[in-house]
Amino acid sequence: MPTKRGPPDAARLDRIVADARRAREARDKTYRERALKLLPWICGRCTREFDRSNVHQLTVHHKDHNHDNNPADGSNWELLCVYCHDNEHSRERDAAAGDAAAGDAAAAASHRPFANLADLLKGRGGPGRA
Ligand SMILES: [Zn+2]
Ligand SMILES: [Zn+2]
Repeated sequence: MPTKRGPPDAARLDRIVADARRAREARDKTYRERALKLLPWICGRCTREFDRSNVHQLTVHHKDHNHDNNPADGSNWELLCVYCHDNEHSRERDAAAGDAAAGDAAAAASHRPFANLADLLKGRGGPGRA
């Protein structure tokens, strides 16, 4: 008599995950198609124009970076070519990194653990004499 192996729920879970992924892909595809229908096929940065032969290089950028925010009027979408889209996101990454670096620099400037050291040494009249 064959024993039943593996919980049946695992297969069900797999299916749910697959469904969710399919739904997400379908939704992504949908908003891209909607954006391409709504907006002129021009990169919002470099103003390069696209047609059917190269429209796959035109991507939908979400202005607020929320891919779930897809208003019907397209107000959250911007069509960008893959290069400018990449640029747009790396620029934001750089800006974030720059802010962090600036913060560190400011913190370092206001926090100078050895600021008094020179005075202390001078005060002792030691190494400064020669
Ligand atoms: Zn571009
Ligand atoms: Zn984007």
